[in-house]
Amino acid sequence: MGAPTSGPIAEFFLQNLEHIHLTHLSNRHKITGYLRYVDDVLLIYDSNHTDIQSILDDFNAMHPNLKFTAETETNNKINYLDLTIQRTATCWKTSIYRKPTFTDTIIPYSSNHPTQHKYAAIKFLYNRLNTYNLQENEYKTEENTIRNIMQNNDFPIHPYHPPPPRQTTIAPDERTTTTIQKWATFTYVGKETTFITNLFKKTDLGITLRTNNTIQSLLMQKQQTSDIYSQSGVYKLMCPDCNKAYVGQTGRNFEVRFNEHKNAFKTNSHTSNFAKHLIEQAHLFSSIQNTMQILQRHSKGAHLNTIERYYIYA
Ligand SMILES: [Zn+2]
Repeated sequence: MGAPTSGPIAEFFLQNLEHIHLTHLSNRHKITGYLRYVDDVLLIYDSNHTDIQSILDDFNAMHPNLKFTAETETNNKINYLDLTIQRTATCWKTSIYRKPTFTDTIIPYSSNHPTQHKYAAIKFLYNRLNTYNLQENEYKTEENTIRNIMQNNDFPIHPYHPPPPRQTTIAPDERTTTTIQKWATFTYVGKETTFITNLFKKTDLGITLRTNNTIQSLLMQKQQTSDIYSQSGVYKLMCPDCNKAYVGQTGRNFEVRFNEHKNAFKTNSHTSNFAKHLIEQAHLFSSIQNTMQILQRHSKGAHLNTIERYYIYA
């Protein structure tokens, strides 16, 4: 993606070229409409008076680093950005265009994500539906597509509640009345997070939510599973004989801590409640894989106490 300035610089470059060449090219080829979004251009011209190949040749002669390709309408239709524009005898009809590679996949409703994140995609689709000037049929088609997307991702669809009406103005958020001074980011772990963030609703603290179950973290974890015990954090020891659990924390690595429990068991040193349980109940000490479950990996620090307490009382 390169430097953050590359986008604006590319835009300056293109606007400068347009400034120099566009009037001349439009007159020469009798182009009646030129619309550009980033690197996508929509040209409107009368094919009786000009041909696309000669337009293309002139556009490609503008700068050695620019290469244009052209796509012309078929059956009076052309796709531009997220629109299919259809030319009829009297007007232009627009409908929503989706690439052939489009799949219905959005964050599934059952996924452990903040509700706001899950509904963001749906909100976007309805917002687009209601702000694009679609004719009745195209509107209905898109409305059905949205419902299908929701259904395929297990979103609840209430048959007796119609979707938001057209051209509605979205009611301003409650919070806009109080000025937000500070923002706090919470990691969403489940519904419990919402209970906590709701407490701040009528304060001047803005809440944003983030999740740890990103694609990156899913892919990274697989790589790390082999040396999972070489990290620190909060763990649970399960007695293999009676399933009694003991939650603990370590700022060193899990394996070192596990071996301490093991030594306490061997030497009957009473430094481990888990070992004490095994000895008192005559239950057996098993392998790290059978006994130790990593509850949360976290680096050494004060947070470990909080996390440990959370798991003890959860
Ligand atoms: Zn036991």
